[in-house]
Amino acid sequence: GQDRSKGCPVGEIRIRAATKRFGAVTAVDGVSLDIADGEFLVLLGPSGCGKSTLLRAVAGLTPLDSGGLELDGRDITHVPPRDRDLAMVFQSYALYPHLSVERNIGFPLRARRAGRADIDRKVAEVARTLELAGLLRRRPRELSGGQRQRVALGRALVRDPAAFLLDEPLSNLDAKLRASTRYELVELHRRLRTTFVYVTHDQVEAMTMATRIAILNDGRLEQVGTPTEVYDEPASTFVAGFLGSPPMNLLHARVSSRGRMLFATAPGIDLPLETIGDVGETEVVLGIRPEHLRPHDPRPGLHGVVRLVENLGAEEIAYCEVGPARLAVRGPRPLGLAPGDTVGLAAEPEHLHLFSPAGGRRLV
Ligand code: ATP
Repeated sequence: GQDRSKGCPVGEIRIRAATKRFGAVTAVDGVSLDIADGEFLVLLGPSGCGKSTLLRAVAGLTPLDSGGLELDGRDITHVPPRDRDLAMVFQSYALYPHLSVERNIGFPLRARRAGRADIDRKVAEVARTLELAGLLRRRPRELSGGQRQRVALGRALVRDPAAFLLDEPLSNLDAKLRASTRYELVELHRRLRTTFVYVTHDQVEAMTMATRIAILNDGRLEQVGTPTEVYDEPASTFVAGFLGSPPMNLLHARVSSRGRMLFATAPGIDLPLETIGDVGETEVVLGIRPEHLRPHDPRPGLHGVVRLVENLGAEEIAYCEVGPARLAVRGPRPLGLAPGDTVGLAAEPEHLHLFSPAGGRRLV
């Protein structure tokens, strides 16, 4: 971000109808996405949805079949990777095993033929930022996974790029280190205020780090929004079923009126709906987050049998059979439910989601 002080846009990425095929597989299918300067944009989706391919296309490592890319208003679709002013951090870290930490970090500057004094100053600065100063003489094999990850980040940082592109950078770390590194990355982003584009299949990483999440499914963009938006108002059953642990309960139901009220009904289910306007169809997929179901005996409500209760420490999750459906209920421990109990469950109308049974798009 060299021009940040001058107020020019830096790190604004525009993806226009990007498409990439590998033989019969369309890895990226007409994706358009605007990433603003300073965003922490997470590309999220299951394995094989095309997120790495899209990131590699932005980096210039994978040419697109059609569509285009812009960086700060400049068309970079055909610009070679090293001239894009973007720095990529790989899952494997891709460090040079025979070079010290110091030389690994300084590598992009030497490749650019920067002066010795400049390189030393910049490497020292980056090492300080990433708390690597004590490790500069070591080789990659003498580092822990977390330290290697920081060196890889350092090598991106010295270039002072317009944006960072990160491909599952935490996936080789154990759970505890992953949590602390998440925190460090957010801190780093807050300090640098440079654009981050970050690929992961881990919804916790996405929810905790992103300013916006772009959810991909089978090469297509399903939804883009803040973590709160995509969690609270998923645009499709795919997004609803991908985010949350356990994810949103999805049940087939029928909407019909009784008196002046609308109800969603199915075996074991009889739920009053908020005034939801005209949903345009009577068959729906009803979505309810596990934390929005409360055990008590409401009429109308949901009725079923508890099959399993999981103790998560602070919370419990009960899995209940409601008609033909299996439903997760989540709440503070103790929920007061045991396997074999018959149970009544209440849900507030404002926490119900309705999706089309054909295509799964959100109805209201
Ligand atoms: P993961 O989380 O498993 O890395 P992803 O969402 O990043 O998955 P991509 O790696 O982008 O997915 O792959 C998208 C699709 O394109 C997959 O079906 C994959 O098999 C295919 N694909 C990716 N790269 C190639 C390639 N070089 N040659 C052939 N097919 C490829």
